[in-house]
Amino acid sequence: MNPGAEVSNRGFLLVLSGPSGAGKGTVLRRILAEQPGVELSVSATTRKPRHGELNGREYYFMSVEDFQSHIERGSFLEWAQVFGNYYGTPRPHVVERLSAGKIVVLEIDTQGAKNIMDQNPAELVTVFITPSQGDSLKQRLLHRGSEGPVDLTQRLANAPVELLDLPRFDYLVLNDSLDEAVEALTGIIIAERHRTHRFRGQINLVTDFPGRLSSGMSGPSVTP
Ligand code: ADP
Ligand code: 5GP
Repeated sequence: MNPGAEVSNRGFLLVLSGPSGAGKGTVLRRILAEQPGVELSVSATTRKPRHGELNGREYYFMSVEDFQSHIERGSFLEWAQVFGNYYGTPRPHVVERLSAGKIVVLEIDTQGAKNIMDQNPAELVTVFITPSQGDSLKQRLLHRGSEGPVDLTQRLANAPVELLDLPRFDYLVLNDSLDEAVEALTGIIIAERHRTHRFRGQINLVTDFPGRLSSGMSGPSVTP
């Protein structure tokens, strides 16, 4: 390809949902470490930080009053109440990173995912992640040890409710083997990145594909 040609990919919004304990965070950490151009949107929440969580890294932790004032100002792309706390996706950051050509991952619950789907954004890919057996969720949440018995019961009870929304998602990733789940999500990201409409720039038929076509053709424009 003509080294002068500016051919690069447009970004897209990657929504990742699934029951608590499915392994969303674990799979994502691997993807973020391995895939260039993929960034995680940091949500705001009114839940208390877990041991080891940092403000601005896992979440922007805020009071209910602050969260509600952000809702009123329209600062969230979507928000929802999940397990008794507010969670929301800050809009300005997502818009800015998408226009910079990044793949922006939203790790959000299915209410938030449906909210985004209903907004019909141009560049959206949705992935549902779950182990194939409900029992694994309980084992994983117990192993994670971040919730008390009441929160744990609430999260497990919500899993079948979230599964009802599965048909609305583009892709299903089963996280029984972590390596296979990472491989599946990587495959989805790579394939989506290669959709023709996501390429922008020009391929010059004269300089990049000389020989068979008459000179003067400037060649397929892959985007406006
Ligand atoms: P989520 O973000 O979906 O709530 P986490 O990523 O926090 O879930 O994972 C929950 C727990 O399950 C963590 O302790 C994690 O180490 C573990 N885990 C994740 N994926 C797997 C897997 N494929 N097999 C076994 N344990 C897993
Ligand atoms: P946790 O408390 O375990 O970090 O997250 C609880 C649930 O809230 C998970 O299902 C997670 O995906 C969801 N969540 C996290 N951030 C957001 C957000 O910005 N919006 C919505 N709708 N859900 C979120």
